[in-house]
Amino acid sequence: MSTNTDIVDAPLTVLGGGPAGLATGFYARRHGLDVRLFEAADAVGGNARTLQMGPFRYDTGAHRFHDKNPRVTADVKALLGDDLRRIDAPSQIAWRGRRIDFPLAPYDLLRKLPLSLLARIAWEQLSIPRVADDADHFEEMALQSYGPTLARLFLLSYTEKLWGANADRLSPHVAGDRLEGLDLKTFFLEALGGGTTKARHLDGSFYYPKHGYGQIAEATAEALGREHIRTGARVSKLAHDGHRLRRVTINEDEPVHTGTVVSTLPLTLILRLLDPPPPDDIQALAESIRFRHLRLVVLGLDCPRLTPNASLYFPHRSVPFTRLYEPKNRSPDMAPDGQTVVVLERPCHPDTTAWTQPDDTLRAEAVSLLADHSLIEGDEVVASTHHEVPFAYPILEVGAEEKAARLKQYLDRFDNLYRLGRSADFTYTHVHNLYAQARRLTDRIATRSESVA
Ligand SMILES: Cc1cc2nc3c(=O)[nH]c(=O)nc-3n(C[C@H](O)[C@H](O)[C@H](O)COP(=O)(O)OP(=O)(O)OC[C@H]3O[C@@H](n4cnc5c(N)ncnc54)[C@H](O)[C@@H]3O)c2cc1C
Repeated sequence: MSTNTDIVDAPLTVLGGGPAGLATGFYARRHGLDVRLFEAADAVGGNARTLQMGPFRYDTGAHRFHDKNPRVTADVKALLGDDLRRIDAPSQIAWRGRRIDFPLAPYDLLRKLPLSLLARIAWEQLSIPRVADDADHFEEMALQSYGPTLARLFLLSYTEKLWGANADRLSPHVAGDRLEGLDLKTFFLEALGGGTTKARHLDGSFYYPKHGYGQIAEATAEALGREHIRTGARVSKLAHDGHRLRRVTINEDEPVHTGTVVSTLPLTLILRLLDPPPPDDIQALAESIRFRHLRLVVLGLDCPRLTPNASLYFPHRSVPFTRLYEPKNRSPDMAPDGQTVVVLERPCHPDTTAWTQPDDTLRAEAVSLLADHSLIEGDEVVASTHHEVPFAYPILEVGAEEKAARLKQYLDRFDNLYRLGRSADFTYTHVHNLYAQARRLTDRIATRSESVA
């Protein structure tokens, strides 16, 4: 039988030490709540860590801190001080030996695409009837927003590589806010106005910490208090009585009594850890939603710089990688003077050859991609390593969000369980949003604790 004193007696239990778990612990401590956080890995940061390879530093995927929530930006600035810097580095698409600005910008396209293509694109921009906000899937949305030519050149095959599903099976939400602002009116205003309005689309200005993105997680963990964090602590079971979680088992054999629990673990994993397990239909539903995983190839190079970009995208289907990023373009401290480091991202489904392919083969593909694009001549690579990013993002297939909503509804029966996080919530969200949500969630938990105290 549960009692309200559980909420007060036991510390707030946070499962997972990625950005969502750390932010929850950090804001909870600011409320004076007692916190304990369990993280399976040997370090905090989850999918937003910075790793070291000899003198080179790189993040687990190309990360930037978006300045979209003033209170969160202020909190992160307070944590990092002068180490958080504003960076201007535009991203581009590698296309037939040229570099096209991304997000797409009409003035840039005018300068870089052949006349025949431009004429077709312009005709499509004029002739396609615009239907606002009602696309059933990503392909329809991309065709509506850009017209068939632009969509096929730069968006559809890239999106299919990124998400591992046909564009007509992907939710329109996979686009995030990157297709905004290119309606007919802005297309022509921008084309006629020269480069003056271009910066709005470039998305090239963001914050980035001096020592890599993982510095945000590390600083948050410091402020939360390392004594409240246990790494190497894998949650292996969540015992419940149908209404409340009663115990969390750590590393198979250490039961821990719980009051309020915030889980940032993947939605499907929480359901799998429940003891007793959920009904068969819920388990089957959980099996039917999927996450994308990533493999990273990291190359240390004996040359000062490879690109001027935050990220360089490879839309072509024949290239196994989706993008390359060069950490030095975010902070010069990421590589020694005269050298640089690049990271190539390869999205995969587990149990496919893309996931099981030997590291050396993937590395060879990365090196030949750089050579094919004349970025290197061949002998510049002085170091290399690989990294896996599991549960990189939920695959937003058409219907998956509705399935996830049913799973979340099932979990709502546990009145001491909250979920927060990209995989926990099955949403394509970003770190600043997770901090904002953690702040709101801990406000609620603190208020609830006060009312039962
Ligand atoms: C390639 C890439 C680029 C990105 N770029 C950006 C960007 O530019 N800007 C941005 O804001 N966001 C970006 N993101 C998103 C950002 O990384 C995620 O939103 C963020 O990491 C999600 O945090 P989280 O805490 O929800 O999950 P995670 O980071 O996945 O953390 C979950 C944690 O739970 C732990 N865990 C799992 N199972 C257990 C268990 N059984 N017991 C205990 N612990 C467990 C994991 O080890 C992990 O540490 C990017 C992500 C990727 C993959």
